[in-house]
Amino acid sequence: MHNVTLIPGDGIGPEVTGATRDVVLASGAAVRFEEVLAGQRAEREAGAPLPAAVFDSIARTRLALKGPTQTPFGGDYRIHIERKDAEGRLETRSYPSIAIALRKELGLYVNVRPVRNYPGVPSRYDRVDLLIFRENSEDLYVGMERMIDEGTAEAIKIISLRATERVARFAFDYMRRLGRHKLTIGHKANVMKMTDGLFLKTAQDLAKEYPEIEVNQRVVDALCMELVMKPEEFDALLLPNLYGDIVSDLAAGLVGGLGLAPGANIGADCAMFEAVHGTAPDIAGKDRANPMATILSAVMLLRYVGEAAAGDRIEKALAEVLREKRFVTPDLGGDAGTRRMTEAIVEKLQ
Ligand code: ATP
Repeated sequence: MHNVTLIPGDGIGPEVTGATRDVVLASGAAVRFEEVLAGQRAEREAGAPLPAAVFDSIARTRLALKGPTQTPFGGDYRIHIERKDAEGRLETRSYPSIAIALRKELGLYVNVRPVRNYPGVPSRYDRVDLLIFRENSEDLYVGMERMIDEGTAEAIKIISLRATERVARFAFDYMRRLGRHKLTIGHKANVMKMTDGLFLKTAQDLAKEYPEIEVNQRVVDALCMELVMKPEEFDALLLPNLYGDIVSDLAAGLVGGLGLAPGANIGADCAMFEAVHGTAPDIAGKDRANPMATILSAVMLLRYVGEAAAGDRIEKALAEVLREKRFVTPDLGGDAGTRRMTEAIVEKLQ
């Protein structure tokens, strides 16, 4: 039995994670969920947006399924985490968002985001099958940002050989396992010669160990244009943190939007699965959210823990619901609610 920490999160999070729990349990997968709060509700009820209970649970389970969490915009809002260091001394670290705090504290160094077409889903393209690897621990997201004076702000971008090598190796090994052939490295090394230059060179050097994978590179702005013009020509993408964040939302748009874009954050000894989308406050609590991105994130979790058969069954059920178009949410052109769509998937599993 695999114990999985379930973090409902904010906005549409409780609706989409609740739907996902129902679907996973209906699939017969050997999974047990352990629910803990993080986000605005945790701040209200437990006095902290990321309580120690979250880390205690993940330390036990090594697996988490997470709904989106809301971090307030602007100002100097930071997430403070008190943790014991190796010698048992209490240390406080601070981060710009809950998602970043979790990824850094848990050492989740790569974000994997598959993007593909599903028959029945309205979309501008019909042969997209992309695998995006986003570096998850550094770049402009290290949170080193400050006001120099009232009219000037500064942010620091960090790219290291170690982190780049780690994410690139993960990408190559992952592609090798899946039999995928072509990796495009996205960067801006023509302008950021040191940082993105190091990212590009490190990934290209490592590529020599994987001769069966064709490796090419694109400046990220040109990459965005080509993705919009001929997405079916790309197989896998490797990107530093910030470009990876932006390009994966763009890619989600190529196949029908954020409602179908899952993700996995993977580290050396634990993994956290979450959809690409955010809290969608405009539709929260209205039974309008599409739960499929989170359900597909759970499918990635099931494959990761060796429950591939259950994962395949769920993906098949979901694809049937999409193809039939009877019970799909408004973002996919239907009029079913989150709950009805979830029931339809569960019915297919029975
Ligand atoms: P956050 O600040 O948490 O990122 P956001 O609203 O800025 O929230 P998203 O949550 O990613 O960003 O939402 C962007 C748009 O996509 C919103 O209009 C939202 O309604 C829509 N959206 C996102 N996720 C879903 C979903 N699962 N189902 C339906 N619509 C969604």
